[in-house]
Amino acid sequence: MDISIVIPLLNEEESLPELSAWIRSVMEEHKFTYEIIFVDDGSSDKSWKVIEDLHRENPFVQGIRFRRNYGKSAALNVGFEQAQGDVVITMDADLQDSPDEIPELYRMIKEDGYDLVSGWKKVRYDSAVAKNIPSKFFNWTTRRISKIKLHDFNCGLKAYRNDVVKSIEVYGEMHRYIPVIAKWAGFTNIGEKTVKHRKRKFGTTKFGWSRFINGFLDLISISFVSKFGKKPMHFFGLLGTFAFLFGFMITAWLIIEKVTHLYTDLEHYRQVTDQPLFYLALLAMIFGLQLFLAGFLGEMISRNSSERNKYIVRERIL
Ligand code: UDP
Ligand code: MG
Repeated sequence: MDISIVIPLLNEEESLPELSAWIRSVMEEHKFTYEIIFVDDGSSDKSWKVIEDLHRENPFVQGIRFRRNYGKSAALNVGFEQAQGDVVITMDADLQDSPDEIPELYRMIKEDGYDLVSGWKKVRYDSAVAKNIPSKFFNWTTRRISKIKLHDFNCGLKAYRNDVVKSIEVYGEMHRYIPVIAKWAGFTNIGEKTVKHRKRKFGTTKFGWSRFINGFLDLISISFVSKFGKKPMHFFGLLGTFAFLFGFMITAWLIIEKVTHLYTDLEHYRQVTDQPLFYLALLAMIFGLQLFLAGFLGEMISRNSSERNKYIVRERIL
């Protein structure tokens, strides 16, 4: 099979028939063998019924339905597990992404050898104006942290080689950072294509302002997990040791000072607890110990994790 199109959706009943017909006409025009995998992320409208009808009409349409709303990342993850095509395309269900882009995305994966090609909505038609400035900031930060030169990380329209989607896991709200996840999994050949973006025709956006806060927290955790997730002690242990040693040295100094002054300088005598340094030392030692313990606990957890020896093998000679 040439192409799997994975489409996460939440309450998009009006858009689905048009989207499916459009994809079908593009696929048939280019003679692709394909499947459309609609992942219904707990819709409360008639989306699932629409998908059932579409499947009856066109056997290339498949559906997966969640029992409740788990989020776009979960929907993508399940779609990825199911996808059979050589090239996997993801797109939003709301008709904001154009299926006309699919043949070129397919070609870029197949012929130009990209692992992943991300769409870039160079001209955006989103309802909220405010969405544009924060999203520029986001893309800038993500670019800095990940060193991936993409303009638009969060574009719903992306293409992947099949083994890329089988090797990565998208959870939480990590769909915003799939290129970053892919890069850290070793798929570094990441391309970009400007894509046409359109106004939402039906329904409303499913992400409000919370997207920026969650997006930022996810960025922190993803960069942290990828750097230290498998070796928490290297981070916490190091910081903890430094903090503890720092506190310990101050304490030693305080003791030496106390003991020497005790005999020489009685008129300037002061309690150890009257000195700010004392509190600093106390804090540093307790803090250091805490960090060290956090690293140790992290290490125990990662030892017990089933993920601990999950590596992505590129090739084998047998
Ligand atoms: N979506 C989903 N689960 C959610 C939220 C959104 O599957 O919990 C789908 C939604 O139906 C759409 C895509 O994710 O197909 C993008 O969502 P939306 O268009 O609301 O985001 P925006 O275009 O405003 O960034
Ligand atoms: Mg949308």
